[in-house]
Amino acid sequence: MTLITRFAPSPTGHLHIGGARTALFCWALARRHAGRFLLRIEDTDQKRSSESAARGILEDLAWLGIAWDEGPGFDADGRRLGGDPRAVGPFYQSQRLETYRRFAQDLIDRGLAYPAFDTPDELAALRKAAEAEKRTFTYRRSPGYDPARAIARRAAGEPCVIRFAMPPAPVRFRDEVLGEVTVPYEELDDFVILKADGFPTYHFGVVIDDELMGVTHILRGQEHLNNTPRHVALMSAMRHPDGAAFRVPAFAHLTIIANPDNSKMSKRDRDKAARARCKELGVGDLAGALARAAGSPAAHLRALDPSAFAQWITDKTRQLDHDALEDLARVIGITLPEVAVDDFRRSGYLPEAVLSYICLLGWNPGEKDAQGRDLERLDLAQLVAKFSLERVGKSASKFDRAKLLNFNQQSIAALPDDEFVRRWEAWARRDDPHALARLGAARLRAIAHAVKPRCRTLRDAAEVLRFALTADAELTFDPKAIAKACSVERAGALFRALADALRAAPDWSASALDAIVPEVAAAHGATPAQVAPLLRVAVTGTLVSPPLGDTLALLGRASTLARLDRCAAQIDRAGPG
Ligand code: GLU
Repeated sequence: MTLITRFAPSPTGHLHIGGARTALFCWALARRHAGRFLLRIEDTDQKRSSESAARGILEDLAWLGIAWDEGPGFDADGRRLGGDPRAVGPFYQSQRLETYRRFAQDLIDRGLAYPAFDTPDELAALRKAAEAEKRTFTYRRSPGYDPARAIARRAAGEPCVIRFAMPPAPVRFRDEVLGEVTVPYEELDDFVILKADGFPTYHFGVVIDDELMGVTHILRGQEHLNNTPRHVALMSAMRHPDGAAFRVPAFAHLTIIANPDNSKMSKRDRDKAARARCKELGVGDLAGALARAAGSPAAHLRALDPSAFAQWITDKTRQLDHDALEDLARVIGITLPEVAVDDFRRSGYLPEAVLSYICLLGWNPGEKDAQGRDLERLDLAQLVAKFSLERVGKSASKFDRAKLLNFNQQSIAALPDDEFVRRWEAWARRDDPHALARLGAARLRAIAHAVKPRCRTLRDAAEVLRFALTADAELTFDPKAIAKACSVERAGALFRALADALRAAPDWSASALDAIVPEVAAAHGATPAQVAPLLRVAVTGTLVSPPLGDTLALLGRASTLARLDRCAAQIDRAGPG
């Protein structure tokens, strides 16, 4: 039998890093056993789902390199993902409504599901009564329920939901990670399977689709563990038109991904970080935030309603719209903690670093390296070769940002220079067009060997080269750096000698330029370590930059000389040397 896994996201926002981990494990298990990995979009919540979120999820998966064999079609770098070779689609649940309706009807016909007409007020009253008696609310059909009448009311067009009549017995199933699970009947209500709008609930859609799509292994987050007994009860009750029973696939519920303080890693963490920073800065309202935004593009923040901001700043449960939050972060000068795959992508992470980090969240290969240490880092081929559900852990996995950053730095360092430039260009085109326009891939190529080792993320490249992205007339000189560089004896004379040598330099290549500092130093009885800072601060404004020859070659002669002039004027004004 072919092993079939699936990833079934609800398209209500960006792909969370935990979702990516689920998708990766599904993919790895399928690859390991020469099976199939399919992708299904669970868009049954009409209000919260959107086509753009679905596209975003496909893009995120494709960017990570998690390729689905079946599912929505998608072109990724000339490769076609998805498709429907077994004719089990469509893969958007909103396109399968007729199928759900037919299965619901079969359950109704067999007395295993029933229409329910309760209004929201009636449900609230039932809930309140349960609360008053200190018991958890569990919906059951009322003793006087008349099936024939209910069916007639439904046929007459009265709005209703369809509920599953939970069979009065405990539900048992085996989880590959957590072992045997038993849930008593008392904890399982007659849950809704078909909503009043004709859409299935998650429980119903998932059970039918996993069956019809032949899914053999369901891997999903532990937050779904409470749902699984409902699904198992449904699977046991359901049958195909030819009478064949539904299968019960294997389940594996994956660990929660947690922050260092053990809270669940969630999108709210981003709001929390921004709120804390606003409080620190005393930014209490939208007007205050916008005052800080003066001169910087913050269109989404400007479009925000002041009362929405006021509610957000005081109410911890609220979230700002994604783009407005990004604008706000820029204005208050923080980097939001990355939570979604797209956040990591924007921050300049490489997909291979993200993958090799997330595969260790809740799973380990259980092998040592040649030195007897736990295997630190795997690539996809190694993951596929070693992946098994037996080594999936039970307890929450802490998300270690420092470790991921370290993986990313290693991944960047391992790229050939050309590939580094190609990746940076692709990243900058989408996420930092300003840097791309100012720097250009060709100029980066010339200095890639010097920039690459200084980058922990692709975003860092622009930081390392910030001096080159700034117009000569706008370069500012860090006064502390100037003071430090000028603390050498006869700084003024050394500075002039440097300028003269550079003006006269016959060869403006990095290697020729590298020789100038030692020559000037030798001619003036100084050391290169005393002279180099003078030049560096003059052309970059700071004391850190790639090697001087590379720095000058990148800037070019005109820019270098213009900067030296401006710096000399500044030094004259400040008076040292
Ligand atoms: N649509 C569900 C979600 O996004 C899928 C859960 C499952 O894998 O069954 O959480």
